[in-house]
Amino acid sequence: MDKNSIKTGDFIVILKDKEKWEGKVVQVFENMVTLKLNSGYNVGIKIDEGTKIKKLWEEKVKKHRPVKFELKFSKSKPLVSVLAAGGTIASSIDYRTGAISASYSASQLIASVPELVNFANIKSRKILEEMSENLTPKHWKKIGREVFRELKESEGIVLTHGTDTLSYTSSMLSFMLRNLNKPVVLTFAQKSSDRGSSDASMNLICSTITATKNIAEVVVVGHGTISDDYCLINRGNKVRKMHSSQRNSFRPINCFPIGKVWPDGKVEFLNKYRKKEEVKEDCYLDDKIEEKVAIIKFYPGLDSEIFDFYVDKGYKGIVIEGTGLGHTAEDLFPKIKRAIESGIIVVMTTQTIYGRVNPYVYSSAREISKLGVIYLEDLLTETAYTKLMWVLGHTQNEKEVRELMLKNLAGEFNKRLQPTQFLY
Ligand code: ASP
Repeated sequence: MDKNSIKTGDFIVILKDKEKWEGKVVQVFENMVTLKLNSGYNVGIKIDEGTKIKKLWEEKVKKHRPVKFELKFSKSKPLVSVLAAGGTIASSIDYRTGAISASYSASQLIASVPELVNFANIKSRKILEEMSENLTPKHWKKIGREVFRELKESEGIVLTHGTDTLSYTSSMLSFMLRNLNKPVVLTFAQKSSDRGSSDASMNLICSTITATKNIAEVVVVGHGTISDDYCLINRGNKVRKMHSSQRNSFRPINCFPIGKVWPDGKVEFLNKYRKKEEVKEDCYLDDKIEEKVAIIKFYPGLDSEIFDFYVDKGYKGIVIEGTGLGHTAEDLFPKIKRAIESGIIVVMTTQTIYGRVNPYVYSSAREISKLGVIYLEDLLTETAYTKLMWVLGHTQNEKEVRELMLKNLAGEFNKRLQPTQFLY
């Protein structure tokens, strides 16, 4: 058979250089075929003129059927809306290729975790079907609108989301949802929901429990340890994915978690958080943001002309992720100066992630701060980035931006860092 008629999922035999390979086609790319062998290993074989290919059989692709799942309404329980935005938690693995795609509907997700109804009446809907690396500020606005719409009806919201950029979304929501008077809980999974070892169900249960509590903040709930024991409740703008694959990857940064939540319903609060009764005014969505904001990570050898690129492109804000207390090499200073003189607001965070930037210790940082760079205390880079977008969406006056950037708008600053918060 001709290589062009090979499809993913076909079982084939390849004869090449007196060798025989038999297995399932995982990928065909130009003249390379990747086969999953019966041993489970994948092998890439280059198809050339002498290669013979024989098709054994073709696998029928099973489609996910929509799950019919009826929830009984209980008057004694609060209503929680589960909104699905994609990511691994809403994904299934395609066993033909080993690839994971975000295709689960919200009701499929809920149906796979029937325990949720012990804690709340559940309403669910899919709002996006994206891996979170594909999300843009436009998606944050859509998510903000959908969450705000549900907040009118429900006691709390659970938003399922991919892990990779989750803390950008949670941070942005913490600025967009003004006078938030209910819990908005973002959750995730590191393994797709259709796998036995998935962390999705405990994260969903703990998030639903959190969504019924007296919390008036955007929070992130997920595994606290690598076992299925409890989840952490973390503030949405002080949390970060700190491990590429472990289930307890979301850690609080520069603070303690708000609390712990167990899947049996127990909750223990460990830190201060905003309660519903503290919010006196109506909640509203304020999604005016300036999208022309960039992050520049400083590293030894960084080409200082990167600043010119953003100046020439008409950017309005730049977050420098400096080293240590907030430093960059001196050769950047003239470029930073040019950026500020052209009206760009430049702010500083640290790539150490933990700790606070401080322009008063070393002379280089003093100089940077004299140029007009705003040192953002203990803010995470993603929080600085989303906050700068939000603030610049409201004013571009340098004095007002500086004031707002240094003001605690959604619990994003921690004035008292403690050594025990490090690597909590
Ligand atoms: N790349 C995926 C995402 O962020 C990973 C995940 O969902 O955990 O959407």
